[in-house]
Amino acid sequence: MDPLRRVINDGAVLVEDGVIKQVGKASEVKPHSRAELEIDAKGKAVMPGFVDTHVHLAQALIRGCADDVSLIDWLRKFVWPLQGNFDAGDGKASAELCMLEMIKSGTTTFLESLLHSRYGLDGIAESVERCGMRGVLGKTVMSLPGYGSEGSIMHPGMIEDGETCLREVESYFKRWNGKANDRIRIWYGARSLGGCTPQLYTQISEGAKRLSTGVTIHLSEVQEDVRYAKKEYGKMPAEFMDQVGLVGPKVVYAHGVWLTEPEWHIMATKGASVAHCPSSNLKLSSGTASVPEMLKAGVNVGLGCDGGPSNNCYDMIREMKTAALLHKVRTMDPLTMNAETVLEMATIKGARALGLEDQIGSLEVGKKADLIVLNMQKPHLTPTFNAVSNIVYAAEGSDVETTIIDGKVIMENMVVKTLDEKSVLQTANERAFKVIKRAGLPVKAN
Ligand SMILES: [Zn+2]
Repeated sequence: MDPLRRVINDGAVLVEDGVIKQVGKASEVKPHSRAELEIDAKGKAVMPGFVDTHVHLAQALIRGCADDVSLIDWLRKFVWPLQGNFDAGDGKASAELCMLEMIKSGTTTFLESLLHSRYGLDGIAESVERCGMRGVLGKTVMSLPGYGSEGSIMHPGMIEDGETCLREVESYFKRWNGKANDRIRIWYGARSLGGCTPQLYTQISEGAKRLSTGVTIHLSEVQEDVRYAKKEYGKMPAEFMDQVGLVGPKVVYAHGVWLTEPEWHIMATKGASVAHCPSSNLKLSSGTASVPEMLKAGVNVGLGCDGGPSNNCYDMIREMKTAALLHKVRTMDPLTMNAETVLEMATIKGARALGLEDQIGSLEVGKKADLIVLNMQKPHLTPTFNAVSNIVYAAEGSDVETTIIDGKVIMENMVVKTLDEKSVLQTANERAFKVIKRAGLPVKAN
């Protein structure tokens, strides 16, 4: 992934002080002095780490707890009661489980969209700092306990007050934005339509401008979003967002399944992005986003894994294949979105969505060294005619062997150095069962 979309055989990358200094043929890439660390990538692919533009860190702990239901029931009967029973220890355990999975499958940067206060924001930010990932953390902002026209359905444990949310974003921003060598960013995580008043959306927009930060929101995920926007505001969802000042760079709409052509044009002109989450949309039967059409209209579209109960995994390689296949069958046109387009969505377009395209998302001199090494010497990745095809259509997250973020080797030979894998898994399991018990849900366990 570079501006010319080159695949360099017998290539090499030189990293110095966390920055890519040289990329090219191995015979041409030469350190000035002996390198501190040399990674032999023979038979392997070196590429930029994935940028997941829609993640719920706190949902890793409730993976498999809400299958086979529609979105509103999924939220009301399962996800909200479970997350409404979280404490800060659960939030941290879930975030570490999620980040462990992301590091192991090659994701180096993520946008978390809705961190409620009860998950313990400082604990989660500390975990991001310690585990070495690049994390954009959206603090929830809400004032209404509903979804669309379904008012007052939110679990009491999840309800927050608008003014407090706005104050918390500011204090969280002051404490954490730019920390960990600028790996941590703090954004506004606005709740979807029916969760905020129009005045609150305007305040979010003003706050984001004042802090020069971003905003993410679930938008047009299900048809209810469109019905609600038309009924309450007489507009389509993105038209309403335009009215409250929430269309522009560093604005990411999660899902965008039901966005329409006039809305794409507003977004393309003003610079808002979509986080396309195909697995989640398929599993919750939300619909199929018009991704090839939006790309053609000039909308920036990244990819997102969403969460533990909606996907149910955080593996961007799997997500790439799902995205490619979904749009081929939806349009009945195998040419509609090729492997390279999907790889762009998972890397450079994701970086653009987060306003980080000048820093990450490709292997270019001067960019931060966020890169991964995939072992291509496996039966399912042989023969090696076309690396891009193999990575998008045949690879698996577990083919990632080494993950480097900000020039630091976070995982080497499949061993994560910044998190104790065994204890993360054990803690997550123990806490998950306790949360289910506290919530009193009839979740099937075996
Ligand atoms: Zn989501």
